[in-house]
Amino acid sequence: MSSSASTVESGRAADSKTVPGPILLLGAPGVGKGTQAKELVKLWGIPQISTGDLLRANVSQGTSLGQVAKEIMGRGELVPDSLVNEMVAVRLQQPDTANGYILDGFPRTLGQAGWLDGRLAAQAKSMPVIAVSIQVDYNQLLRRITGRRSCPVCQTIYNVHMNPPKRDGVCDVEGAALVQRADDTEEVFKERMRAYEALTAPVVEHYRALGRFAEVDGDRPIAAIAAGIVAAVERMRQ
Ligand code: AMP
Repeated sequence: MSSSASTVESGRAADSKTVPGPILLLGAPGVGKGTQAKELVKLWGIPQISTGDLLRANVSQGTSLGQVAKEIMGRGELVPDSLVNEMVAVRLQQPDTANGYILDGFPRTLGQAGWLDGRLAAQAKSMPVIAVSIQVDYNQLLRRITGRRSCPVCQTIYNVHMNPPKRDGVCDVEGAALVQRADDTEEVFKERMRAYEALTAPVVEHYRALGRFAEVDGDRPIAAIAAGIVAAVERMRQ
């Protein structure tokens, strides 16, 4: 195990010398992309760009994008590529992306992947992307999704089955009442999985074929998965 992988395991701030560049976290709903992105942010100090979080922020602010996205997300379908790509383009202009970023939940279609690849190819100084696919089996995902609750204040994620808060329904850190995402029901999960199989599984194959691709087993402790991702990225950035 590399030194920075053990840094992730001990949860301390980063000392990794790797310049990570753009990292894509791929995988079905509930595999832990968001959780892993936060681990990598702590290690590398590069931003997490979650298209799901950006869309939810648009919904709660009532922007025109949010008004379009709300119903689509509520049904577990995908927001049109043109809208999501534009939202990502704006975010990637922020200076905090200079040494890299972790795209969490993007690209989710071949159209989005083609757009991202073209954008990076057009930037002379850009490092090529590394794609990491996290894998967890269907029944485990269903348990994770339907049990998921989060703190509206500090965003800490709990699971009523596997990682419950000390007091039922209350955040350990903030004492706030935990909330469940509207699309974390079994019915919407099934639609999200259909969308994943039809539209996002081909994206995984696209990046597998390009190389600079790793697959990690997501049915392990958080630190062990993070260590696996870090080791794969460091190997590919050498
Ligand atoms: P997530 O938080 O990544 O599970 O995303 C929640 C929902 O936001 C998805 O079920 C989609 O409706 C929408 N969404 C997030 N990312 C994308 C994307 N890259 N393309 C299209 N829709 C997205």
